[in-house]
Amino acid sequence: MYNSTDIRELCEEEGIRMIDFKMTDLDGRWRHITIPVERFNDDIFVYGIGFDGSNYGYAPVEKSDMVFIPDPATAVVDPFTEIPTLTMCGNVCVIGKENTPFDQYPRNVSLRAMEYMKAEGIADEMLIGPEFEFHLFDNVSFMVDPQKTAFTVDTRQASWNSGKEGPGNAGFQVPKGGGYHIAAPHDIAYSLRSKMCMYMEDWGIDVKYHHHEVGGSGQMEIEVELGDMVDMADKTMIIKYIIRNAAVQEGKTATFMPKPIYKEAGNGMHVHMLLMKDGEPIFYDENGYSGLSQTAHYFIGGLLKHVPSLCAFTNPSTNSFKRLVPGYEAPVTIGYATSNRSAVIRIPAYAKSPAAKRFELRNPDATANPYYAYAAILMAGLDGIKNKIDPSANGWGPYDCNLFDLPEDEKAKIQSLPRTLDEALDALEADHDYLTAGGVFPERLIEIWLERKRKESLEISQIPHPAEFEKYYDL
Ligand code: GLU
Ligand code: MG
Ligand code: MG
Repeated sequence: MYNSTDIRELCEEEGIRMIDFKMTDLDGRWRHITIPVERFNDDIFVYGIGFDGSNYGYAPVEKSDMVFIPDPATAVVDPFTEIPTLTMCGNVCVIGKENTPFDQYPRNVSLRAMEYMKAEGIADEMLIGPEFEFHLFDNVSFMVDPQKTAFTVDTRQASWNSGKEGPGNAGFQVPKGGGYHIAAPHDIAYSLRSKMCMYMEDWGIDVKYHHHEVGGSGQMEIEVELGDMVDMADKTMIIKYIIRNAAVQEGKTATFMPKPIYKEAGNGMHVHMLLMKDGEPIFYDENGYSGLSQTAHYFIGGLLKHVPSLCAFTNPSTNSFKRLVPGYEAPVTIGYATSNRSAVIRIPAYAKSPAAKRFELRNPDATANPYYAYAAILMAGLDGIKNKIDPSANGWGPYDCNLFDLPEDEKAKIQSLPRTLDEALDALEADHDYLTAGGVFPERLIEIWLERKRKESLEISQIPHPAEFEKYYDL
């Protein structure tokens, strides 16, 4: 936590030569712009740094000039730069007589969701804990020919644990689907994951634990302790940056793609959550189902009612829906349950104390823009509380059985999650009043999102797929 004078002092002390400003684009990628430390002065906190917002996916070109105003409280020395660099996040404003916060900027959307929750008198804190699953590969070669007639990614060759290229794993390949918590020498990524977690701790992120995940091809997981929603969206950006850059330092590559490898476990970003009011957790009731209060049930009801449209923000890629298929601990049906990984909402049985009482939403993945995704999750839950949406009265459970194993006629009665990005976008088009309530998600943002994502989905549907060569080449 620094002010501008501290920042200059810190730069002196640490020999910092560059100041870097990081901004989030519409899709949820960090972009950055850098100034020499010699150019750093207090004006930057008032007038900001100008940039072209249209390249970030935001503004129409005719009004694309925007300014970035850094927040000195976010200043950290970037551990991945050769040239000593101090990095800062901040806010994006539209230029006018006064600079006004840009309403579509992801961080502003999540800040407004928090304000809305407080103004409605429902709670004053939302704590969330995302889980980060990802794959580590040696390399991934994309082969896109100029006409885009074929597109191949050979993830089998690329897999770090394929046994072909991985260092020191000869004879200790992780069995397919058998990687959960596996120890060394199979777990050749242990040191790299530890390094990632050390970078996170140094950046002010409380790591809960890290381990090898189920997938046999270098699937990993790092979880963090629960924290404030907006802060956790910032940290989500930082965590993904650290994981990717620490991997690159070791000559590896990390991906959060929801389903990089067919027929292997995919990468989710489950989100644990609870609300606090006047410093007290409000999701706990020792007599409620699985220790959850009525308020928590209504929140769950809101999530389950809106989850098809929520997927447009929490699972916003075509690849997202290749993960949401039966058999890989990823959810496919709309329901809630205790300790049950087949339901889209799982109440962890181990979290027993009032302060820890929570549930996890399992459909999200890390292709989401975390600011939009967490804000949308909160808005769906708040709608459930406001409208007293009871999940059991709506046939959403609780299901304390493996939903994948139910007889077909029982399964048919349970509503499914969207099967494609297009289905999720249709759901968003039909159901978004819960998001625009209180002006939290601007209507224009919903329009831009639908337009952009429909275009993306159409484009991908038109690219000939390698599997089509296998199926149709000889017909
Ligand atoms: N990898 C699974 C998913 O895609 C989740 C496994 C777990 O429960 O940690 O959601
Ligand atoms: Mg996991
Ligand atoms: Mg989980």
